[in-house]
Amino acid sequence: MTPLAPIRHDLVLAGGGHAHVEVLRALAMKPVPGLRVTLISRSRTAIYSGMVPGYVAGQYDLDEISVNLDRLCVLGGHRFIMGEIEGLDPVAQTFALRGRPALGFDTASINVGSTPDLAAIPGAAEHATPVKPIEGFARHFADWQAETHARSIAIVGGGAGGVELALALSARLDQRAMLHLIDHHPSLLSKLPPGAGRWAQKRMEQRGVSLHLGQRVTEITADGPRTQALIPADLTLLVTGSKAPRWIEDSGLSCDERGFMRVGNTLQSRSHPAIFGAGDCVNYDAFPREKAGVFAVRAGPGLADNVRRLALDATPVPTTMQQRGLQLIGDGAGAACAIWGPFVLSAPGRALFRWKDHIDRLWMDRYNHFGAAMVAAMEAQPETMRCSGCGGKVGPEILRDTMGELAVSGDVAALSEAQVGSVDLIRDAFDDPYLFARIAGIHALSDLYAAGATNPRMLSALTLPYAKPAILRRDLEQLKNGLVSLGVPVIGGHTAEGAELTAALTVVGDKAPAASTRARVGDALILTKPLGVGLILAGRMLGKVHPHAVETALKHCEQDNAQAARILEPYATGLRTDVTGFGLLGHLQTEVPDGLGACVSAKAIPLLPGALDAFRAGIRPTILDANQRATAQALCNAPSPEISGLLHDPQTSGGLVVSVTQSDVEAVLAALHAAGYDQSAWIGRLTSREPATDTGWLEVIDPWE
Ligand SMILES: Cc1cc2nc3c(=O)[nH]c(=O)nc-3n(C[C@H](O)[C@H](O)[C@H](O)COP(=O)(O)OP(=O)(O)OC[C@H]3O[C@@H](n4cnc5c(N)ncnc54)[C@H](O)[C@@H]3O)c2cc1C
Repeated sequence: MTPLAPIRHDLVLAGGGHAHVEVLRALAMKPVPGLRVTLISRSRTAIYSGMVPGYVAGQYDLDEISVNLDRLCVLGGHRFIMGEIEGLDPVAQTFALRGRPALGFDTASINVGSTPDLAAIPGAAEHATPVKPIEGFARHFADWQAETHARSIAIVGGGAGGVELALALSARLDQRAMLHLIDHHPSLLSKLPPGAGRWAQKRMEQRGVSLHLGQRVTEITADGPRTQALIPADLTLLVTGSKAPRWIEDSGLSCDERGFMRVGNTLQSRSHPAIFGAGDCVNYDAFPREKAGVFAVRAGPGLADNVRRLALDATPVPTTMQQRGLQLIGDGAGAACAIWGPFVLSAPGRALFRWKDHIDRLWMDRYNHFGAAMVAAMEAQPETMRCSGCGGKVGPEILRDTMGELAVSGDVAALSEAQVGSVDLIRDAFDDPYLFARIAGIHALSDLYAAGATNPRMLSALTLPYAKPAILRRDLEQLKNGLVSLGVPVIGGHTAEGAELTAALTVVGDKAPAASTRARVGDALILTKPLGVGLILAGRMLGKVHPHAVETALKHCEQDNAQAARILEPYATGLRTDVTGFGLLGHLQTEVPDGLGACVSAKAIPLLPGALDAFRAGIRPTILDANQRATAQALCNAPSPEISGLLHDPQTSGGLVVSVTQSDVEAVLAALHAAGYDQSAWIGRLTSREPATDTGWLEVIDPWE
């Protein structure tokens, strides 16, 4: 009997803030048996606030200031759920998420930051750009830079964030725009020692920043903020006093008068001890601290220790946090001012900035280079790394050799005169049961759509990871909701516990009427989704794929083929299949009608961003070699390794490949693009084949440069 290590405790971390990244790291370094850690964040990256001014000044790019949460979770063995938290029920112990089912927990921790209070100034919601959430601002800043040449920018707020931002912008724009900074205090950096304010003011004056101190902004208009008079600005940035997300107060958690969650010295909620909190969204009752990234960072180790204790049924212990944090304010041009309690130091030259840069980069490396030794070990022994999703299928040769005539070609099997069916089995590659069920369902149903079947139904056989009953219930709830969200009746099923989350889905549909047209030489081949999912998912396991590439790949996986099939139905001439585990060429090999061959243009193949880079970085899905061997005989030429890698890449929830007459290509592609299959492309054509020839009828032309 297999020894079981059931999941006993669900820890859910809400928000990828500065404290939570340390919790993720600490629990990966020293895992607690039976503890499952799940991070919910609205983005796969989290921006490190301390480096934002440097980014604005042009000293860093966006990747340099972003913690790769996706990688940290994958390599740390944690689950990552991308979602927007909209509510919390502290009694039922669930988070409400936008557009998907609520997620339950045994212990939770909240580190979601804060945002400027847009309601505090009339017109702010419509006309100002808040600098928080920082990821939103950073993205907005990049777009804004690319698209516009603002002549005048107003920054509302003269605290540390506003001052750094103004200095960074002045360094970046070098007098190309007029800068204004407005604060109702008569001096800058009013919460810091006066020497810091004087340093900042001098720098601002040297750079020609127009200061409006001792003035209160009463309104923000499309033409700029208004104090006693209008300050003309094309862009108004809001760096003012913050407020906590509304859902925290609405949840019934004990909060202070401004809506910040109250936590005691163990970082547990004052009202609900199973819920911890840290960073800008909390009020530390036991040791008040200002809202600054440095204190969120400091909370990390104590928080990790206490959530670990709770998971082990031990009592959380009081944590301490230094009262003073070293604050280094950069001027965007290489100089900085250091503040420690009442002390202010501004050395000439770049020494202080270099020091700050060193500290910031060390902090980032701690998270972004986490697990480097483990990755190196996995790369040294690739056979120990097995892909899930479609990259984990048994190869086509083994199937052909052992299953013989049972390994029939075709996307579906005839169940009766009127019905067809198919079954698909995949292991979880997404660490998110709801998303996994959706993608597994879309993937399985694709066979029916490829065959033109209608009236789809589904039966599910699910293996859930060993867990205590409450956790099994949670997981099954997520899986059920994922399947149900597809809008296809689930008419039966079966469940079991097992080593890992797996879905075997049987799909049944009404057989399509016999085709009235036949595929002919010269017909165009249309592919509805880009290739590269297998490479992206395999690269993700090693933390080697950019999180945005993961995001794009998952969006394509979640795109249903039903509508594409409906669009293609009136045009399809004879070849209809979907691209899954055996790759594009593997599926063409089995599905091109007798007597015909196929020619594919490498240049015309749509690719997912990051897929080619993953191949070039040495990433190889488990089944790739077997896929390549299986088509070797049919290929009349040997494509380059890169092209071959992409054309044999196993696709989880890949697109349809359908032949249409060349005169219909324009109409077909226009309809597919309009329906959201925006990377659909004409990728090749059907050719002639000598009767009964197995060799040299599959061709790849137009190699990449
Ligand atoms: C320009 C600027 C410069 C700054 N420089 C410094 C500095 O040098 N030093 C310093 O100490 N402080 C600095 N700060 C202050 C700093 O930004 C904050 O104090 C800090 O980011 C708070 O960290 P946190 O961990 O609490 O939250 P955050 O860093 O805001 O992280 C919260 C995370 O939770 C996620 N999240 C939020 N809401 C949801 C939701 N509903 N659902 C899902 N996910 C969610 C977000 O995507 C984010 O990843 C600066 C601020 C600004 C604006």
